[in-house]
Amino acid sequence: MKNTKNSIPDDIYAGFIRSLFNDPAILLIGAFCHGLMGLLTWYTSGESIYIWLASAMLAAGLYRYFGILRGQKVGPFSVEMARKWELRYLIGGTLQAFFMGMFAFVALVVKPDPFGELAAVAVIMGSTVTIVGRNYGSAKMVAVQTFTVVLPIALGLMLKGEYPYVALGLFIVPFIYIITRMAGHVREVLFAAISQEKISARIAERFDRALNTMSHGLVMLSPEGRVVVANSEAAKALQFQRPDRLLGRSLRAVLMRGVAGGLLSYKDVRYVETQLTRALGEGRDRKLQIRSNNGRYYELSARAGNDQLGVITFEEITARVEAEERIRHMARFDSLTNLPNRGWFHELVGELMASGDGSRHCAIVVFDLDDFKTVNDTLGHPIGDGMICAVAEKLARFASDEVKVSRFGGDEFIIFFNRVSGEAELTALIDQMFLDLQGTVDVQGHALKVQLSAGTVISRVRETDVDAMIVKADLALYRAKELGKNRWCLFESTMDAEFRSRQTMKADLRSAVEQRQLRVVYQPIVALSTMRIASCEALCRWDHPELGAISPGIFIPLAEEIGIIADISTFVLEQACAECVKWPESVSVSVNLSAKDFHSRDVVEKVRAALDQAGLAPHRLEIEVTETALLDDKSSTRAFLEELKSLGVRIALDDFGTGYSSLSYLHTLPLDKVKIDRSFVIDITQNERSLILLTKVCELSRGLGMLVTIEGVETFEQLKLLAGAVDPDLVQGFLFGAALTSTGIDTMSNMTWPFAGELRAAARSQG
Ligand code: C2E
Ligand code: CA
Ligand code: CA
Repeated sequence: MKNTKNSIPDDIYAGFIRSLFNDPAILLIGAFCHGLMGLLTWYTSGESIYIWLASAMLAAGLYRYFGILRGQKVGPFSVEMARKWELRYLIGGTLQAFFMGMFAFVALVVKPDPFGELAAVAVIMGSTVTIVGRNYGSAKMVAVQTFTVVLPIALGLMLKGEYPYVALGLFIVPFIYIITRMAGHVREVLFAAISQEKISARIAERFDRALNTMSHGLVMLSPEGRVVVANSEAAKALQFQRPDRLLGRSLRAVLMRGVAGGLLSYKDVRYVETQLTRALGEGRDRKLQIRSNNGRYYELSARAGNDQLGVITFEEITARVEAEERIRHMARFDSLTNLPNRGWFHELVGELMASGDGSRHCAIVVFDLDDFKTVNDTLGHPIGDGMICAVAEKLARFASDEVKVSRFGGDEFIIFFNRVSGEAELTALIDQMFLDLQGTVDVQGHALKVQLSAGTVISRVRETDVDAMIVKADLALYRAKELGKNRWCLFESTMDAEFRSRQTMKADLRSAVEQRQLRVVYQPIVALSTMRIASCEALCRWDHPELGAISPGIFIPLAEEIGIIADISTFVLEQACAECVKWPESVSVSVNLSAKDFHSRDVVEKVRAALDQAGLAPHRLEIEVTETALLDDKSSTRAFLEELKSLGVRIALDDFGTGYSSLSYLHTLPLDKVKIDRSFVIDITQNERSLILLTKVCELSRGLGMLVTIEGVETFEQLKLLAGAVDPDLVQGFLFGAALTSTGIDTMSNMTWPFAGELRAAARSQG
């Protein structure tokens, strides 16, 4: 680094120039010394020129002195000012040096005087020391002064002409170099030191800024456990005005200050202190979460650093803790009812069951709203939700430390009783709940009737677990629904067996369908006018390898439940069409389709494919549908029926009279026939009202242009009455035979029932 003004940064240059204006007193002393030396020389030599020189040196010294005083008053220099003041300084310094040089030159050469020589050389040599000491800051000043002071002496000595003086004069010349070089060196050293200091200051400043803009509070502890660094966040949190107020305090003192500021509670101090010091001592990182008296959360972390300096940071984490709390709540509680959800209920109950006396009894109750789906379907989901909430609110009142209430999803609620004395108490509890829950609730102006079913199980705690209890309570609920809803059932061990056998039966049915082990039989349907077979109903049969023949009344609902009814329908359709082709033209076939078949458009394709595959004329196939199918989803079912009808297939409404039976929609549907359920026929021989009812239903259907089949005709007695009063188009029942194989039908197809003649006679006598 060169020592010219241009090579050093402006701020340092200004600083150097400013340093020239330090310590003016020395100049004052120097000025008087110079004056005095001049006077003394005048005294010894008697030459008046020394008076003038003494005055000039004094005046120049005083001029510099006052100039420096003025410069000092200005305060710190800007670069511009530094330039101006350096010039003034140069003028003063040059003047003084010039007069001193002149003094030496005169004493040596012009008016030689032995005392003057000594005095001048002494004054100048002394001054050269101050040139370095005072003026190193200005290279120009050093150069000018050195030349003007040293050169006249050297010149003077040489001009004396005597050999030793000339040698002395020459000897002084390098002195110029030495002085300028020394001043330069001082300047370089100082410059390096100042630069380093500046760099350090800048780093310190950045470090300070980083530290004080941190959102964490930070204190750094010395190995002795005293604060050596603290940031402003720490000062703020601990209510100190400035971070340096924390310095030198012990960790405990800092924590106590935190107590005073409400940051942590007094009882936590000892714990926090030991945890943090231990972590720092062992060189581990450690995090602590504390809750302040005002409900806010803080996290303290200890981090062991280098040189055994431990760093403790702290941060307010209330928002994070609250967010975590919210997330945990969302994961544990049902959003609609705010009751514990399935997972959380499971955990809560698991914990309760794991503790306490294992021989005590506990119980679980599963509640399910009856026909909740209808509320959802007819009034919409918001109303359904409202109803769930109303029930949840009532149920929540039973919750306590010992009773856990949960919503398991949908319309299902579950309650755990941690301790019940026995069945009697449980019965009383559930009866009370039923009383409280039933009745009407108001949801957005709709008065909704709440009706529920429940299943419950009681068990010794050590003999069971949550999952097993839920399964059993569910089985009991299933039974309650089976028994007609609006009631509750206690689990019995036979339910378990039934459940298992149901499960195995489902699996067996599945494989029976896959392996086409079902078969189809056909029951004759007879035309009343001819007493000959007009058609046959295809009925499905399943012969279970161990349990024997299983009624379709059992396995058809099972197939619907496990979703394989469509496969059965396809199978029966294909079989029925294939067999019917083999029968005489006059005999048709009827196939039962399930309500579930109408959930998909496939049903139409399926029928078309079965007809095509068998080559059966469509008018010889009839599809039987129940009212449930029509009610399920009116619009698409209607569309599929229309499509089936456009294929040329006929449609019959099955089991008429058993369901919701509204004749009003009959005429809006594309129906060809109504099959009146056998429950209408059972007592017509004893009960005249039944006969009248049957007659009216029949007349009505006919009026709507539909044919009528009467099912379940078992006796000739019944047939006679029907023929006389009702006169249906077709009859079906055990009187004409139960279902038989396809070949059986083929054989019977030409026969006329023997009682045809009798019937006609009876009808004639009645008519
Ligand atoms: P369903 O459609 O009403 O069929 C008539 C049922 O009444 C048959 O019972 C038949 O054996 C019985 N039955 C006929 N005449 C008489 C009688 O005079 N007295 C009495 N007590 N019963 C008589 P099955 O075969 O047990 O079928 C029961 C139900 O199973 C059927 O009732 C039908 O709903 C369903 N089902 C049968 N096969 C199929 C099928 O292939 N597909 C579908 N989806 N359902 C079927
Ligand atoms: Ca049927
Ligand atoms: Ca029927």
